[in-house]
This record gives sequence, structure tokens and C-alpha cells, in this order.
Amino acid sequence: MTINAGPFAGTTRLTSRRREVELDALAVAPAVDLLVVGGGVTGAGVALDAAARGLRVVLVEARDLAFGTSRWSSKLVHGGLRYLASGRIGVARESAVERGVLMTRTAPHLVRPLPQLVPLLPGLLRPGQASLVRAGFLAGDALRLSARTPGAVLPRMRRVDAARARQLVPGVRAAGLAGALVAHDGQLVDDARLVVALARTAAQYGATVLTRVRAEEVTGTSARLVDSLTGQSLALTAGAVVNATGVWAGEVDPSIRLRPSRGTHLLVDAAALGHPVAALTVPVPGSTSRFVFALPQQLGRVAIGLTDEDAPGPIPDEPQPTEAELDFLLDTVNAALTTALTRADVRGAYAGLRPLIDTGGGSTADISRQHAVLESPSGVITVVGGKLTTYRRMAEDAVDTAVRLRRLPARACWTARLPLVGAPGHRDSRPAPEGGVPASLLARHGGAAREVLAAGGAEPIAEGIDVTRAEIAYAVTHEGALDASDVLDRRTRIGLVAADAARARAAVEEIVAQSRTR
Ligand SMILES: Cc1cc2nc3c(=O)[nH]c(=O)nc-3n(C[C@H](O)[C@H](O)[C@H](O)COP(=O)(O)OP(=O)(O)OC[C@H]3O[C@@H](n4cnc5c(N)ncnc54)[C@H](O)[C@@H]3O)c2cc1C
Repeated sequence: MTINAGPFAGTTRLTSRRREVELDALAVAPAVDLLVVGGGVTGAGVALDAAARGLRVVLVEARDLAFGTSRWSSKLVHGGLRYLASGRIGVARESAVERGVLMTRTAPHLVRPLPQLVPLLPGLLRPGQASLVRAGFLAGDALRLSARTPGAVLPRMRRVDAARARQLVPGVRAAGLAGALVAHDGQLVDDARLVVALARTAAQYGATVLTRVRAEEVTGTSARLVDSLTGQSLALTAGAVVNATGVWAGEVDPSIRLRPSRGTHLLVDAAALGHPVAALTVPVPGSTSRFVFALPQQLGRVAIGLTDEDAPGPIPDEPQPTEAELDFLLDTVNAALTTALTRADVRGAYAGLRPLIDTGGGSTADISRQHAVLESPSGVITVVGGKLTTYRRMAEDAVDTAVRLRRLPARACWTARLPLVGAPGHRDSRPAPEGGVPASLLARHGGAAREVLAAGGAEPIAEGIDVTRAEIAYAVTHEGALDASDVLDRRTRIGLVAADAARARAAVEEIVAQSRTR
């Protein structure tokens, strides 16, 4: 049985009305099988896993879906090549398997194959480094094959000549270019959209998904849930509580010790690199394993990242990049460009904190990205570490642990076969209507494009911003956006460039106000 067997049973729609009705229902019957704290990729994945196994699930998110680290990633669904280089074969294989699951079954509409190009330029690679990169790419191919991801989904590595390299990344330095090595990985159209798709699919399977609700006084079987919109609270009891609050995990459960590391990206216009279709990969001078990437993005931008800096102290709501990080990124990428980028090219910048488990000394770059499921003395089950790519496996491990420790009445995990909303094979997915659907809308919504267009017009929200008015309305009528900030900063990523947000805000606010009543 599901707790929302009422008016919203079986629907993926998240609305403010649903939120109110489900909060009221919870106040009357405040007992569930599983409480999930945190609405990032990990918590949304846990909620889906548990609800699909038939458990009664509540997910609470203090701010908005994908408010935390999950929206500040590089948006890569990666096969774990980096872990292979350091001999962590288990982590690498897990990544490659989960990449294949996302790209072939659960969310192929949100993940595309991205060519990654390492230019063979004098002075850029150290002697012998090209052979190392080639060997790494070949090992990545072997990993892909062992994960049974076909070459039709992710093509094998190859060497290309200089002309082809400049077609893929027109801005790459021409002088002395002897070609490039090219390998493929997965790239999300947007990380926050994966989180929203997970939360909506969890809701379809009966999970109650509540944003603007903070969990306080959390124990292994209870929590106080505080609605930040009304100030009201309720005491919830649960068979198990999963803490999926990422870098905030230690605030929910003080026995957890993390060592956050900041990763920064900056954004430039795609035109500044000649509208690349591949990611440009530039080695960091002095390191054999670190690279700066220039990654083509939606909305006509390229993201250049990323850094890995210790970030001790209180956890900010929105981490800020430092000037030194921006200089480091520009200096590194400029070594591979014909025309150097300057600060004047930077349209925006963002930083996120990796929730790394504190393993003592060493640099944060050396700390394992493997996830952990930990039961604290108070009985809270924390799932932390890992990465976006492996969210599904993290969720499976966390729910398996909760089921085993608390004897919850659950079926076996089956999320590897469960298409998310918008994916081919999802119950509500429809072929896109002939013509008239902007390619960008299709890339963000997949099989839900027809439904999105029914919510409003296909014209852009502001001149030069490739997001339709329909998507703004749909964010409110289907995706749980409660205000203009949810829409600008998470359902769409217009907010990544402050000047774009300023241009779109009035129209977004108007549509949000109109759509709330629908
Ligand atoms: C710069 C950077 C780049 C990255 N790039 C990649 C990449 O390309 N590919 C990849 O696979 N991984 C990448 N990662 C890793 C990945 O982004 C993270 O591992 C992942 O997003 C963590 O998700 P999470 O759900 O655990 O945490 P979060 O996304 O931070 O979610 C935690 C949520 O808990 C909420 N919360 C906190 N306290 C409470 C409370 N008391 N009650 C209710 N809610 C609460 C917060 O508001 C937040 O929304 C990157 C990470 C960084 C920092």
C-alpha cells in the first residue's frame, strides 16, 4: 500500500497542491516505513528505490530538489577512467556499469555520448603522456565492454587528424597540432533535471516528496519535520531513516565526519571556442592524472572546470568560486586554445562541495570517491560519498541496509530496469509531435515533450534564451517548482548566468503566478 493512494496515486506530477494535501495526510497518520532526508540525486534515488520496492516512503528536502551539490557537477556520467588510473578497479567498474544503465535504460533521454578530445600539441603533453592517455582510453574501452555498453551507445576511442580535431573543437590551437585522441563518455543535459526526474518517478511509485521541509531532531526511527513555508511541524516515526544530505550529513548525524572539497567551473559563450561539439581535455601542468575540461553545455555555453580544493568550515548554502580558481582554469585551458580566453569572456561561475568521507591526511584529490553506507549509534543510516553517476547503486545499497537492519517488508531492488519519467519505455512517454518542438526542449524532456508543450507556448522566455514559456509553466504544474527561483536556478539553468536571469525573471514570475492556480 502507498501513503498517497488518494488523488495523486500513480501520477508523476509534483505540485504545491499535492505538497499541501500530502503534508496534511502525514499530520493525521505520521508513520511510514522509510524517511529519506535530502532531495539531491542520492536522496531522490533512495526514495525511488524504496518506493518501487513497495515501501511507504517520505522524502523531505529542506530547500528545493537539487538545491545542494547535485546541481553543481560537471554533468558527466562517467565510466570511471580516473579510478582505473589509480588501480581502483571496483569503483571504476561500478561507474561503467551505472553509466550503461543510465544511457540504455533508465534515462537515455537525459544522457548523450560526449566525445572528449585530448589535443596532441607540442608542450601540452609531457614526454610519454600521449601514450599514457592512449593506454587509459583503451582501458576505458575494455571497461565499457565489460559493462556491456555497446559501441553504438558509446563509440570506442580513436585517433583523429588535426582537421577533424578542429571540426570537433574549432578553438583548439592550430599551430603544431598533430591530431588528437578522442574517447567518449556520457553527458547529462543537466544534473538537476536527473534529480527532478528521479523524484517524480518516486512520486509515481507512491513516495511523498516534500520540498521546503527540514528534518530536525533526527533519530534512527523518527524526526521532526518542519515546513518552512508555514512554520508548522509534525513528529514522524519511521521504520528506518536514511540521511542523504551530502555535505550536510554531519549536521543531521554528528557521528559523520566529512572533508568537503570545492570544485569550481566557469561559463563562457560557446562561440568563444567556435561552438565545440566535443569536450576539450587539457592536462594540468605537473600532474599526470588531472585535467581541465571545456565541456559544451545547453543554452549555448561551455563550462570550464574543475578544481579540487579543501573547503573546511561551515557549509554555505551556495559555495562561491575563488578568484584564484578562475585564474587557474583560464590559464590551464588557454594553453590549448588559438585565442586565449580572458576574464571578459566569463559569463558566470559556480562551485560545489564534494561530500568526501574524511580519511585523514593527504589532498582531497586523493580521497576515494567510493560511497559508504554507515549506521550511526543513534540508528540513522547515512549514505554519502560516491557521485552522480552511481546514485542508483548508492540507493540500492542504502535501502538494502535499511531493509536488513529494520526488517522492512520490501521486494528486491529493480531500479536498473525502471525507466524514469521522460525515458523511452516510461508509461507516460510519447513520441514528440512532428516539427515545432525545439531540439533543446526535447533534450531536456524526452518523451514528456508533448506534455510540456501542452502546458504553454513554444516561444522562448526571453530573446536569445533557449528555454520555452511552456517549460516554465510545466516546472510549476508538473515538476514541483514553488517559486521563480526554483524555476530559474534548478528546473532550468537560466540562473547560471546572472544577466540571463535578470532578463528572464519578470516573465518567469508572471508564468509562475499564473501556473500556480492550474
Ligand atoms: C564540482 C563537482 C563536480 C562533480 N562532477 C560530477 C560529475 O561530472 N559526475 C558525477 O557522477 N559526479 C560528479 N560530482 C559528484 C556529485 O555531484 C555528488 O556526489 C552528488 O551530487 C551528491 O549528491 P547528494 O544527493 O549526496 O548531495 P546533495 O546534492 O548536496 O543533496 C543533499 C540535499 O540535502 C538537503 N538537506 C540538507 N540538510 C537537510 C535537512 N536537515 N532536512 C532536509 N534536507 C536537507 C540539502 O538541501 C540538499 O539538497 C561532482 C561534484 C562536484 C562538487
